[in-house]
Amino acid sequence: MKASVINRAPDICDLAPGYIRAIAPYQPGKPISELARELGLDPDHIIKLASNENPLGVSPLAMQAVQAALADIARYPDGNGFELRHALSRRYGVDMSQIVLGNGSNDVLELAARSFLMPELEAVYSQHAFAVYPLATQAVGATGVEVPARDFAHDLDAMLKAITPRTRLIFLANPNNPTGTLVRSNELLAFLLAVPPSVVVVLDEAYNEYLPDELKADSVGWLKEFPNLVVTRTFSKAYGLAGLRVGYAFAHPGVADLMNRVRQPFNVNSLALAAAAAGLNDREFVRRSFELNQSGMRRITHGLAQLGLAFIPSFGNFVSVKVRDADGVFQRLLERGVIVRPIASYGMPDYLRVSIGLESENERFLEALRQSVVP
Ligand SMILES: *Cc1c(COP(=O)(O)O)cnc(C)c1O
Repeated sequence: MKASVINRAPDICDLAPGYIRAIAPYQPGKPISELARELGLDPDHIIKLASNENPLGVSPLAMQAVQAALADIARYPDGNGFELRHALSRRYGVDMSQIVLGNGSNDVLELAARSFLMPELEAVYSQHAFAVYPLATQAVGATGVEVPARDFAHDLDAMLKAITPRTRLIFLANPNNPTGTLVRSNELLAFLLAVPPSVVVVLDEAYNEYLPDELKADSVGWLKEFPNLVVTRTFSKAYGLAGLRVGYAFAHPGVADLMNRVRQPFNVNSLALAAAAAGLNDREFVRRSFELNQSGMRRITHGLAQLGLAFIPSFGNFVSVKVRDADGVFQRLLERGVIVRPIASYGMPDYLRVSIGLESENERFLEALRQSVVP
């Protein structure tokens, strides 16, 4: 073929749908290995408080299950995830037909978007809400409607007003990441009652296990009344399994069936299935994770207040703090071997998000921050 013909060929990337080309890539927290390479630091002296991972690591029961499951990795995983769905069904009193497993809860968020959205339809979510909502919406060519937050929290009245005949999905994170704000149970219930039954509400409860019992909504109980409700949870946070990627959704059986149809048949790997089923029973580990987070949150917010820094009161395992010159502070923390998360891409250029760590990590963060902030 003559070169002139090749030159006239269009750029293949220009042929991808405009809504795909318009997607802004997700910016993950910086891995320890990358920072070690970039700054020539000893990886053992770097602490990562950037991705809301569990500082206690993984539940010993889950670890044992992974080790046992390793023997079988030549086999495909159970595509129905029977054991894990059975365990979830017993724990939460939902029918197995109401459970959808995902490769992380990111995956189930996407399954909800793929099941209910298409070009011309709209998804509503809040400003400063989790970054995956716009991504999942745009990937299917639907339109994301971002509703301004009120004091960094979801403005439920404004979200209701944003609903149009084209709205098919609402994403709501509770608590929200990266703001840590919580919608109270009674407000959430009033919201669900006000949303038209033709709109699916995806209630993302990734941080549910970090809430004290009195603040937990009866979201799973509400499934009986609201066939348009999808509740999503994850094993990435309090269960300490972020690297294995496993999350789930509870939904009306019909909705779960749709989501399972667009799901990849083997979306959750065998190690993740085994670890999650075992981890679910390690209530002691989740309790310790909760308590460490409570005391760490008190310590860090106290330290931030002592430094005279404003922060958004958080119900998650992280807190977002306001600093002058967030980019500069982020860089200076990196130089001191502390990785936190800049959240300019969430529309919060003056904030850094820090995950609650071990006691020693929290102290190191506070000391490094003291040395890094601009008075
Ligand atoms: C961390 C997080 C998730 C969970 O992601 P996984 O894919 O399960 O690791 C979901 N939603 C929010 C708001 C989160 O912060």
